[in-house]
Amino acid sequence: MKYNCTDCGEPLEVELISSGIIDADENSLRQSTFERYKSFFPYFKIDNSLTLGVGFTPLLKCKFDDIDIENIYVKNETSNPTWSFKDRGTALGIMHAKELGYKKIGTVSSGNMAVSVAAFGRNANLDTLILVNHELSEEKANPIRVYGARLINVEGDYSELYSESINISEKDNRYFINSDVPFRIEGYKTLAFEVYEQLNGIIPDYIAIPVSAGGHLRGIDKGFRELKASGIVDKVPKLIVCQPEGCHPIVKAFEDGNEKISKFNKTHTIAHATENAFPPSGNQVLRMIKENDGLAVRVTDEEILISQNKLAGKGIFVQPASAMPIAGIKKLLDAGKLKSSDTIVCVVTGSGLKYTKVFDLYNFKEEKCKLEELAKILINGEVLEW
Ligand SMILES: *Cc1c(COP(=O)(O)O)cnc(C)c1O
Repeated sequence: MKYNCTDCGEPLEVELISSGIIDADENSLRQSTFERYKSFFPYFKIDNSLTLGVGFTPLLKCKFDDIDIENIYVKNETSNPTWSFKDRGTALGIMHAKELGYKKIGTVSSGNMAVSVAAFGRNANLDTLILVNHELSEEKANPIRVYGARLINVEGDYSELYSESINISEKDNRYFINSDVPFRIEGYKTLAFEVYEQLNGIIPDYIAIPVSAGGHLRGIDKGFRELKASGIVDKVPKLIVCQPEGCHPIVKAFEDGNEKISKFNKTHTIAHATENAFPPSGNQVLRMIKENDGLAVRVTDEEILISQNKLAGKGIFVQPASAMPIAGIKKLLDAGKLKSSDTIVCVVTGSGLKYTKVFDLYNFKEEKCKLEELAKILINGEVLEW
């Protein structure tokens, strides 16, 4: 199977669907997100047993004191089956693999995609292989093992591991559902359809997305373009690419006015989920934001932590990478690139529980007391000496 163009090496994409329909009368409590939007997935039959209830995530309106934008919506992807948006793409990738008769699947990832593929692979009864290129922390490795996938730590460069997995896939007869393969990207379209319905047919002015490999952004944009091509809406949201200061190859190319991205040297960021130094869909994302009149912004680790806290203030605990859209839109607003009247959807991509190392930065203090002291402390406001 081919994942990239054999001439130019750029990633392939499934043909644009222009005959999609959205039937708002159907009861979404009795459907999966793929069933609801099945006319946008005409190439094979949707198998609900493989979807694990992915998608249909909340869209929450949030007002932040120091961001003067009235209409900010947070699309909370942490409520997916394995706590990140990756599940949308994995679900469709698994369906495609099954459709083609594959018995073995795999992925190259050290983070959310690994655990997502492990979960969906197990549920689909497929031999599942996860390739990583460094020692994983227990909190990352063990969930993969709980789901029963084989985990191999391969010494070497991450982007080369990605191309090697594709070289091997043919001989090993294994479908690699990597970060930007065409049917993973197709799965990400569902977010666009959900946002369209949740906003009652209003298309936001912007959608801000944390970007690493670029697959997620491509899928979301394709979903909106298909709504337009199908005559359902007459515009698409402008894209905002958000990357961390310590790894921003796409933002850099955008700022420098380059046609192509270059590999980012010496990455270092707390936004680990977006630490791909040489994103496979980077050039494509660059072309898309230029065509779409989009924006690109880089944010510091400090701004990320502040935004993580702001989201916690709304009851949403995200991992550092997922806080970038909030930091990014504040920066763009302050720079005069966004207006207070803009309607903006911020996609928060994954759960805070997936990156507990961040707790070290918070300096939490533990309070302790004896049972008989509790009333005194709370009612008299007594300070504990311990
Ligand atoms: C994978 C991931 C991203 C980046 O998505 P790409 O498709 O690689 O651009 C962003 N945030 C989180 C939490 C992720 O797991």
